[in-house]
Formats: sequence, structure tokens, C-alpha cells
Amino acid sequence: AKEQGRNTIRFVSDMADRDQERRALYIQNKLAKAIKGQELRVWFQPIVDAQTRKVVGCEALARWHDDTYGWVSPATFIPMAENLGLIRELGHQIWIQTVESMQRWKRLGIALRVAVNVSRRQLFIPSFTADLLDDLAALDLSPADIDLEITESVAMEDAEHTTKRLLELTASGFGIAIDDFGTGYSSLSQLHDMPATKVKIDISFVRRVHLPQGEQLIQAIVKIASAFELSTVAEGVEDEATAALLCALGVQSLQGYHFARPMDADLFEAYLLERKDA
Ligand code: C2E
Ligand code: MG
Ligand code: MG
Ligand code: MG
Repeated sequence: AKEQGRNTIRFVSDMADRDQERRALYIQNKLAKAIKGQELRVWFQPIVDAQTRKVVGCEALARWHDDTYGWVSPATFIPMAENLGLIRELGHQIWIQTVESMQRWKRLGIALRVAVNVSRRQLFIPSFTADLLDDLAALDLSPADIDLEITESVAMEDAEHTTKRLLELTASGFGIAIDDFGTGYSSLSQLHDMPATKVKIDISFVRRVHLPQGEQLIQAIVKIASAFELSTVAEGVEDEATAALLCALGVQSLQGYHFARPMDADLFEAYLLERKDA
């Protein structure tokens, strides 16, 4: 009976695996179609100044709605697009939608910095910098209003190539934000050599700020950032106590559900207009 029990369990987990595999294949197919059909949309989440609480910027975040599975998380579909070789196309579509929105905000008299997430593969497109500059020039926008977000682990992989590319981007006027800062493996010397302008303190540190040593950890990150002349943004701020503490610890900008969730372009525009002269 024991033997059979084990077999049964193995059989069930096999089924579950195969089921999951089938589901993954299905989602991949749907994603490929959605990217080819330009169905993905950019949403925006505000970033506020920690002291004045005014909206100073936003992060562009990709969103995908599938008619079978509903909203699929970017944490699922971004790595999938990377594996399918479709991340450049996805990145390009999100970028174009982002700069078109920026142009609309500019016409409305609203100035704000925009952060755009960039995947490792995109950094290997030879004409990456030139393409971005062309798109901006066509809309009369400036790279000085844009932060390209690169995760710490990507920034430190192929450090030589990445550093060269990031130097080219900063020389062209883009800001470079190290995303999910504190979760990678960068040494202080690598960080020193990294042509970045900003660090985004990872949500895991923000969550721990009220735990023992949590405060000291944020303080240490703020000190390192300031030593390297990097500005600081904290992501995942979900309540006022956390916002106030981060501000007291010297974090410059804040992003999180406490202020607003990511919104589609229309809703975000209304949100900006509501706050424009406030
Ligand atoms: P990220 O760049 O670190 O983006 C921040 C994530 O935190 C977003 O998740 C955002 O919705 C979420 N977030 C914001 N405030 C809060 C909060 O208060 N609490 C919690 N729990 N979460 C909060 P999202 O939109 O699901 O994106 C996940 C990741 O997918 C992003 O992490 C980014 O690495 C990647 N991603 C999203 N859009 C793009 C894109 O267009 N291109 C690339 N390459 N990656 C993208
Ligand atoms: Mg990001
Ligand atoms: Mg992040
Ligand atoms: Mg993150």
C-alpha cells in the first residue's frame, strides 16, 4: 500500500508538471501573438519627492491582458519575452508608447522625469542609444528627462560591455538608475565604476525598515549612494509610517501603493491634471 501511495503521488505530480508545461507553452504562444499584434500597454506609476510629496516623475511599466488568463504579471511575461527573443520588440513598443505619452504631458505643460525599464538584451542592440535619441528628437523631447532602469544584476553582468554602453547613454544625457539595488552582487568598486545617476532601493529593504537593523541598512545605502553622488528612490512604499521614516533617513524620492498604483495612460493623465496646479 505504501508502495502504491508513492506511485500515486508521483503520478499526480507528473500530471501537475505536464499541466504546467502545457499552460506555460500556451501562455508563450499567446504572448508572442500579443507582442506581434501590439496588444501590450504601458502603465505609469507616480514617483513623489519625499519631502514635498509632489509628483516629480513616474515609472513606465508594461501590462498585458490575456483573454483566457486575465492580467499576466510582468514578472512572468518579461522573462518569457526574453527567452522567446521578443524582448527587444516588447521594449521598443513600450518605449514608443512612453515617449508619445511624454509628448502629450509636455503639451499640457506638465514636466516630469520618466523611468523606463531596460532588459539586458536591449543593451546589446548596437544602435540602441542612437535609436532612442532619434525617437526623442522626432518628438522634440530630451534624454535629460529620462532615467533608464537597469537591474543591479544586469548592470554587473558583462560589466565591461555594460559599462561602455551606460557611458554612451549618460554621455548622451540619459539618467541611469540601478534598479532593485541591494539585491545583486556588485562590489563597491564596481559600483564606483558604474556610470549611474540613481539607485532604486529594493522593496525588500523598504519592507524591513521597521525591523531591527532595517533602519541602519537604509541609512548605509543612502550613505553609499551619496558617496557616489547617486540620488535615491525607494520602491514599494505602502504606508505613511514607512514614507516618513525613509524621508527622515534621507531617501529623496518615493514610489509605492501608498501614493498611487500604476495606472493606464488615460487615468495617469487625469491624475496629473488633477495635481497640476495644486
Ligand atoms: P521593477 O522595475 O522593480 O518595478 C517595480 C514593481 O513594483 C512594479 O511591479 C510595481 O507595480 C511594483 N510596485 C510598485 N509599488 C508597489 C508597492 O507599494 N507594493 C508592491 N508590493 N509592489 C509595488 P510590476 O509592474 O509587476 O513589474 C515587475 C517587474 O517587471 C519590474 O520591476 C520590472 O523589472 C519588470 N518590468 C515591468 N515593465 C517592464 C518593461 O517595460 N521592460 C522591462 N524590461 N521590464 C519590465
Ligand atoms: Mg524598474
Ligand atoms: Mg525596482
Ligand atoms: Mg523590484
